[in-house]
Amino acid sequence: AKENGRGKFCVFAAEMNQRVFEYLWLDTNLRKALEQDHLTVFYQPKLDSDGVVRSAEALVRWNSPERGMVSPADFIPYAEESGLIVPLGRWVMLTVLRQILAWREQGINLRVAVNVSARQLIDQSIYSDLKLALMDSGLAECPIDIELTESCLIENEAQALTLMKQFQELGAQVHLDDFGTGYSSLSQLARVPINAIKLDQSFIRNINEQPVSQSLVRAIVAVAKALTLQVIAEGIETKAEEEFVLLNGVDGRQGYFYAKPMPAEQLGHWLAKHPA
Ligand code: C2E
Ligand code: CA
Ligand code: CA
Ligand code: CA
Repeated sequence: AKENGRGKFCVFAAEMNQRVFEYLWLDTNLRKALEQDHLTVFYQPKLDSDGVVRSAEALVRWNSPERGMVSPADFIPYAEESGLIVPLGRWVMLTVLRQILAWREQGINLRVAVNVSARQLIDQSIYSDLKLALMDSGLAECPIDIELTESCLIENEAQALTLMKQFQELGAQVHLDDFGTGYSSLSQLARVPINAIKLDQSFIRNINEQPVSQSLVRAIVAVAKALTLQVIAEGIETKAEEEFVLLNGVDGRQGYFYAKPMPAEQLGHWLAKHPA
């Protein structure tokens, strides 16, 4: 038993070591990646209820010389913890705005939704950055939307609500991301200034074999409709999943079934091949 206990401790220590090592690796290299332009933004089309693509979601990627393409799932949590998410998020926002302007030159008129995490919202500079960049761009209206998760509401709710309203006044739509995975209740939806909820992928996964998920989606859509909020389904991978959301009043859809996130030029080609 003694040996067993010690063995467990060793495994635990090894895991700790691994995590510390990973943290230090990210601490040196993510900062460098940001400075050396090793980050890139991919875009995934979002279809409106009529099937037309009027917007795309910006999803950051890290092209590491050492590790290849690193998923944001592996470095965003670290960036949030270290505070690096603030300059990283500013870089994403400015890169997206520049891309939108480049697309306009090519006759492509697209809105882009940017993911913003709680830490960025608390910092507040993301809002002033956007406002300044918009003034600089000469655009008459804001072509950027904001995707926030429920966790943004937990840390400093009053401040989060104020910023959400300010984003809306600027002309950005505010979407509540990963809806249904956090702690917020349906009744909370009535008092947050949002335009849409994005149903979490876990609801859509195998929806046709999940009667409970089906009922939940119907209930969420009903409440959202009553509050005049749009509902967007993400993670649609199959025809059957698409049919379910179309049949149940979901407004927007997104997923590998239509397109994976891709580099900006590729999205230009994709749009040309997928006219409404
Ligand atoms: P998210 O905002 O919930 O984004 C959706 C994720 O699901 C993306 O993963 C997307 O590539 C993936 N996805 C889209 N369609 C499908 C599908 O049909 N099936 C499956 N299995 N997956 C699909 P990705 O790009 O790895 O991003 C992961 C998360 O990282 C995002 O989740 C978001 O929370 C965060 N993230 C990405 N870019 C940024 C950013 O610029 N700033 C911040 N703060 N967070 C970001
Ligand atoms: Ca998102
Ligand atoms: Ca999501
Ligand atoms: Ca997510």
